[in-house]
Amino acid sequence: MTPATPEIIAQNLARVHARMLAAANRAGRDPGAVRLLAVSKAQPVEVLIAARAAGQKDFGESYVREALAKRRDPGPLSGVIWHFTGTPQANKTRPVAENFGWVHTVDRRKIAQRLNDQRPTALPPLNVCIEVNLGGEASKSGIAPGQLAALAEYVAGLPRLHLRGLMTLPAPETDREKQRTPFRRLRELLETLNARGHALDTLSMGMSADFEAAIMEGATLVRLGTAIFGARSAKHS
Ligand SMILES: *Cc1c(COP(=O)(O)O)cnc(C)c1O
Repeated sequence: MTPATPEIIAQNLARVHARMLAAANRAGRDPGAVRLLAVSKAQPVEVLIAARAAGQKDFGESYVREALAKRRDPGPLSGVIWHFTGTPQANKTRPVAENFGWVHTVDRRKIAQRLNDQRPTALPPLNVCIEVNLGGEASKSGIAPGQLAALAEYVAGLPRLHLRGLMTLPAPETDREKQRTPFRRLRELLETLNARGHALDTLSMGMSADFEAAIMEGATLVRLGTAIFGARSAKHS
């Protein structure tokens, strides 16, 4: 797989920003309220550097070892905010707690508690989203909606974590209208939590194939990989 050139990446970023703007306008939302996370897993460090040079600040990585390798020479990637979008494993939470600004995939107490305990005091609290499994597929990560309130309560009580909101990764759906259903449900879950006293400001939802539908339903952060960088190497797709 040939990585995209810096010119292509800059072009893709400009296109994505234009589409985000159009979707926000269609939804009657402030375009500044939707943040772009560039999901760079399985992409070589050169393409991250190209995106950074084009102004991209937030990067998402799903594999800890790969993410740390890309950061060995931090110079060209200075100023980056690193987001962990992979499945956290209980025995590998420490490097996540020490090296990321955000974790989008907290779905159980044990992970939250370990991230809290391992977050270095020299760093600000770790921003976290709780991943919700809306489809009920047992094979998928994410907490069931019925258990969300209790987990949110628990995470909000951990001093080294800052509970920011909710994240979901719905099953692929090509119909534009149907794409909106899980995103609407996630927004309603967030509204319910806020009505109960939380002050959550983040809906992490929408990927390359459905981010416009997510913006229509209130996404504040869209996670895009292929729309920016092109196809990933086959190893992890
Ligand atoms: C890979 C990944 C993405 C990006 O997917 P694209 O379809 O390439 O935009 C977004 N979110 C998560 C959690 C991912 O693992």
